[in-house]
Amino acid sequence: MSVPTTTPGGPPAFDIIEPPSTALIDACVHCGFCLPTCPTYLLWNEEMDSPRGRIYLMKAGLEGRTPMTPTFVEHFDRCLGCMSCVTACPSGVQYGPLIEKTRAQIERLYPRSAGDRAFRALLFSVLPYPGRLRIALAPLALLSWLPKALDRVGLLGLLPSRIGALLRLAPPVSFAGLAARSPVETPAAGEQRMHVGLLTGCVQRMAFPGVNQSTINVLSAEGCRVSAPAEQGCCGALSLHAGNVDQARELARRNIEVFERSGADRIAVNAAGCGSCMKEYGHLFKDDPAWAARAKALGDRVRDVSEVLVEVGEPRARRHPIPARVVYHDACHLAHAQGIRAEPRALLASIPGVEVVTPAESEICCGSAGIYNLVEPEAAAQLGERKAAHIALLKPDIIATGNPGCTLQIAAAGRRLGHTWRIVHPIELLDQSISGK
Ligand code: SF4
Ligand code: SF4
Repeated sequence: MSVPTTTPGGPPAFDIIEPPSTALIDACVHCGFCLPTCPTYLLWNEEMDSPRGRIYLMKAGLEGRTPMTPTFVEHFDRCLGCMSCVTACPSGVQYGPLIEKTRAQIERLYPRSAGDRAFRALLFSVLPYPGRLRIALAPLALLSWLPKALDRVGLLGLLPSRIGALLRLAPPVSFAGLAARSPVETPAAGEQRMHVGLLTGCVQRMAFPGVNQSTINVLSAEGCRVSAPAEQGCCGALSLHAGNVDQARELARRNIEVFERSGADRIAVNAAGCGSCMKEYGHLFKDDPAWAARAKALGDRVRDVSEVLVEVGEPRARRHPIPARVVYHDACHLAHAQGIRAEPRALLASIPGVEVVTPAESEICCGSAGIYNLVEPEAAAQLGERKAAHIALLKPDIIATGNPGCTLQIAAAGRRLGHTWRIVHPIELLDQSISGK
């Protein structure tokens, strides 16, 4: 095991502001069970690009055995934050808080290149703000064919890799989609069983407004009153998972206030990364006496939409048949971060005619991982094609997944391998089945 640069007795890589926890690091017994499930270890077979190696690096950083060198930072930049290692670890190592704290330190302390800083600043000044994102995506509503056409003739490959990835992964938008607003209040069909608040998301509401409408339709059909407050904003997931903790907290505070006012029993989320982040609000504010209790109370009410539908009880709405072989792709922040695997499969299996199948390596990330496929495009593309190849072997009629980032990533990887797939959120298929259209 080699550490990039050692400085015995020198300055530690981390400062005293929320460093990764020594106690959490020391829970790792170096058994290596996590290595075969780590996507970056699979790609490069390099110890320092494995969970065990990264935890070792954190310890070296804390103990002053390495400063924050470019190589040190690179090993953490390459981590997808997919939490596959958490599922695999028999010792219960909490890698999530470790990588979040490490990334926050890197974002505060490490002098990235001017180009890197500018690219990241652009992403974080646009993606979490629906109004700005709407403006940024508007040209695509006219020119949505352009990135695909440029890619087909190989021109995207001539651009800097991050710009190429940005265009390749651009969501399919229309002016109608950009202008779409979810209804603020939707009554339950029949007797009300639950009052549910809906997080409408950022990329979700712009690029996949149909997912939000399907979520509302299904919840209502199953006896839920649905509130989708117009004042809500980004949940903070992209910022939190990339180390921009202050921005994540600022965004989270707004949504805590908004959803407290809604009075909903549960907050339903239909994007895996957002749900995982909102469930962690208590942890995000645990050292802030003004917000800790409110954040925890709100986080405790957050559920993935598939969990809400299980909790609400016996299905009420009739399901019409959809004869289809559906490949279900586990989004990492649903399967690994929230432990939700059975519920979405059960929703799909409740549709007559649907055959639910799971591809090989279902525990391995598709390479989307928040902004990972934009800032680490080469590794993300390799993982995307690996995922698409496994999916293609199953000859799907439809692919279902619970995260917009996975949808875009798998669509782009599939196109590169010559496949044009119908990729939906499970809730869209359920809505189609209930409506019978
Ligand atoms: S979060 Fe994913 S990429 Fe990062 S160390 Fe764990 S398994 Fe590997
Ligand atoms: S499986 Fe857990 S204890 Fe074992 S090396 Fe990986 S993180 Fe450490």
